Amino acid sequence: MSLEDQIERAADLLRHARYVVALTGAGVSTPSGIPDFRSPRSGLWEKDNPMVVASITSFRTDPQVFYNWLRPLAELILYAQPNPAHLALAHLEQQGLIRAIITQNIDGLHQRAGSRRVLEVHGHMRQATCIRCYKQVPANSLVARFLATGEAPTCGCGGAFKPDAILFGEQLPIRVLNQAIAEARRCDLLLVAGSSLHVVPAAELPFLAADHGAKAIIVNLEPTDFDLRADLVINDDVAEVLPRIVDLLPG
Ligand code: ZN
Repeated sequence: MSLEDQIERAADLLRHARYVVALTGAGVSTPSGIPDFRSPRSGLWEKDNPMVVASITSFRTDPQVFYNWLRPLAELILYAQPNPAHLALAHLEQQGLIRAIITQNIDGLHQRAGSRRVLEVHGHMRQATCIRCYKQVPANSLVARFLATGEAPTCGCGGAFKPDAILFGEQLPIRVLNQAIAEARRCDLLLVAGSSLHVVPAAELPFLAADHGAKAIIVNLEPTDFDLRADLVINDDVAEVLPRIVDLLPG
């Protein structure tokens, strides 16, 4: 099937669906210049292993090591802008065609593009929590000083502030995760965009949706383990494909 035919087929599936949920991963944010830090090809693995420096165990031992690793990524996230893939998904929600976005991304770009119902299963960077006394502060109260000095932000109690993004080895936010599972069960069409489905829970949600009768579209540069069960697989750039799907839909 040509790309054009695939895009038409995707629009057709969306047009006939009753309850569509999107599941997005790092591939939606790479066109905004944010590397997939879970991927060894991101460049963020060359010096350090994120599985170690971005783990909760390492954070508790020496938060400064984590913050040294985070600094370049934090700058990219701070200055990144939503790209056409984010905007297309926000548009689909405004048109009533998408009911929720489940995302693995922590960058908040879906919300900045105008999406409203975003389930961030790996947390986010808008807030930080002290690992000792659990005081919560908005991240923007810490960012300027951190980017200027590189020093790990510290609470008045002496504990380190950790961004509310989920580190390796850390529990996922259970309430958000349960909502994501409920949406996967409820939808009759799951649109997977920019996720290679390597990391749980994202890897499991399409199977859960399919087991409950949902159809699935995958738009991702690389193949995934779910491809054989998907109704449509488009191996192309989300920032090109999603706006072209939107163009074929009413409104
Ligand atoms: Zn504290």
